[in-house]
Amino acid sequence: MTDHLPLAEALTAGLHWLYETEQPDDAWMQHHGEQIPVIGNRFLAFVPTSDGGLPVVVIGVVKPKWKEGPRGDMVPTNPLTPIELPRLAAELEQRGYAVRSTWNGFPGATGSVGLARPAHPSQVAAVKRYRAGCQEHPARSVFCECASWRAGFERAICPSALTTA
Ligand SMILES: [Zn+2]
Repeated sequence: MTDHLPLAEALTAGLHWLYETEQPDDAWMQHHGEQIPVIGNRFLAFVPTSDGGLPVVVIGVVKPKWKEGPRGDMVPTNPLTPIELPRLAAELEQRGYAVRSTWNGFPGATGSVGLARPAHPSQVAAVKRYRAGCQEHPARSVFCECASWRAGFERAICPSALTTA
């Protein structure tokens, strides 16, 4: 478990992981990406490949509190502030990572920034291996709980290993 980092440090660690860290070719990891806890009840998540095959950085509230909204849907009482998603996008642009688009954000509990530059190919490959599911028990797919399926996740290098190194 990592200590909560200031946002800028979490961003540096996550981008390093996304673009420069090579996953072993016998590792896999789930498609929601890896989260880094950030000071102030926030996290950053780094998703190597989304719908278009390109990476996404997500900012979110770690522990959202929910109440019923005006249309009967659940809305967070402690959402992202209006500035957080645009500020993250601007910070990424400033660091030289072109932003494709942003979505969600205030008044929601998470916001996403789509990046234009593809992630390290080994990161994308590790997600592909996850999507292919357990090769020994194809019927159980990604829901397998056997030792060899679990071992693939343990071989994956996660960003917290980099921030505590
Ligand atoms: Zn299995």
